[in-house]
Amino acid sequence: HTPPPTTMPSHRHHRILLIPYPVQGHINPTFEFAKRLITLGAHVTISTTLHMHNRITNKPTLPNLSYLPFSDGFDDGFQGKDKDAYLLYHAEFKRRGSEFVVKTILYNSQQGTPFTCLVHSLLLQWAAQAARELHLPTALLWVQPATVFDILYYYYHGFSDSIKKPSRSIELPGLPLLLSPRDLPVFLLESCSSAYALLVSFFEQQFNDLDVETNPTTILVNSFEALEPEALRAVEKLNMISIGPLISSAFLDERDPTDGTSFGGHAQAHIFQPSNGCVEWLDSKTEKSVVYVSFGSHCVVSEIQMEEIARALLDCGFPFLWVIREAKEGEKEEDLSCRKELEEKGKIVKWCSQVEVLSHPSLGCFLTHCGWNSTLESLVSGVPMVAFPQWADQTTNAKLIEDVWKIGVRVDHELKEDGTVGGDEIRRCLEVVMGSGEKGDEMRRNAEKWKGLAREAVNEGGSSDKNLRAFLDRIAES
Ligand code: UDP
Repeated sequence: HTPPPTTMPSHRHHRILLIPYPVQGHINPTFEFAKRLITLGAHVTISTTLHMHNRITNKPTLPNLSYLPFSDGFDDGFQGKDKDAYLLYHAEFKRRGSEFVVKTILYNSQQGTPFTCLVHSLLLQWAAQAARELHLPTALLWVQPATVFDILYYYYHGFSDSIKKPSRSIELPGLPLLLSPRDLPVFLLESCSSAYALLVSFFEQQFNDLDVETNPTTILVNSFEALEPEALRAVEKLNMISIGPLISSAFLDERDPTDGTSFGGHAQAHIFQPSNGCVEWLDSKTEKSVVYVSFGSHCVVSEIQMEEIARALLDCGFPFLWVIREAKEGEKEEDLSCRKELEEKGKIVKWCSQVEVLSHPSLGCFLTHCGWNSTLESLVSGVPMVAFPQWADQTTNAKLIEDVWKIGVRVDHELKEDGTVGGDEIRRCLEVVMGSGEKGDEMRRNAEKWKGLAREAVNEGGSSDKNLRAFLDRIAES
């Protein structure tokens, strides 16, 4: 289907090279970003590693969208596990990726169809460096909240001690919230940083590259004005603009995606194969009655923790749809002691089309690890959350969900010494969010409010729509 854009495209001269880091959480917003650019008239080329490109199912096919994968030297996938192997992998990825960027930019120029901008996601600053050498404007597509960007920026630009070892709660310039240690990105804390030394150093390279004097770049944040007004302006000298939420317009505008006018259709891209039957199962449930449980595409939840989640789900009695990904090392789903009972009371799948699930009227609550895509997908669907963060930015996202946007309850990790969250605590949170008490009502009201504001932001004339058009105008002038 080739739907007519709602306005005359005014950015036909733009050719944008988009390079996402090869993980599910970067691929989805990149595809949605590509669709927005194309609606405005731009031509887009998406380049990721050959291995990732081949894994993605349901890739959007649109006029003016092309794919140009490149080899990172591991076309069958990188299997290494230790630090040295990762270092070697990243060096090879960078070397081959940089070469690819230079060749592609030069080739397009020679063909008379030069790129007008390169946009890359996190940890691919080498792509921006290569583009800048050829005088091509660049932008960073930031796929986490602006608040997390600010915290990381401050960490690498002068505040590392106060963030590493916060004595109690800390306040950072321009951010309107007090952050306790449990709200900070886990890998920055002194107690954890040795385990994540490699990641901390990769982020350091990314944030060192954001030197405004030498490397002017735009930071395009997958968020929106109303959601993070202060955080988007906290680091004054950087040019941060919100262009989100980057969620399929088919879900945002509530038109029937099969009617041909919804640009790009449903097309949520996947690196795992979604199981069948989720929507039919949800159809058989009553409105707002189902708990959806998923921990995203990376987290490995321990067996003990899985048992506690299972106990909570069985005890509280709500119907549930639970995504348990293919077993990985140490995670044997068939070991769940009450699997039979779970399958009688709920539905367990290996992967689902999450945006479709969250936008279903039967959804009452999302028990989530608070990955940023999952958080935004829940927010635009008006579904309140039980926040169960595992690591990375998820702890900060959980803080925002509970205390700033007030659309969820966060589980208390500190009740048990081993860090496991007990079934009773999970049940308590589920009952608050699903319940008819004042707190549950307030969260549902807030979730509806944010759902409306998110849609407003991306609609024509909304803040994110205006920001994106202004960005395209600006790079056209540079
Ligand atoms: N997702 C999905 N099906 C599932 C679980 C997750 O489609 O069964 C998608 C989800 O919609 C989201 C992405 O996977 O877009 C996960 O990204 P997120 O940032 O939430 O977490 P990460 O996987 O990066 O930890």
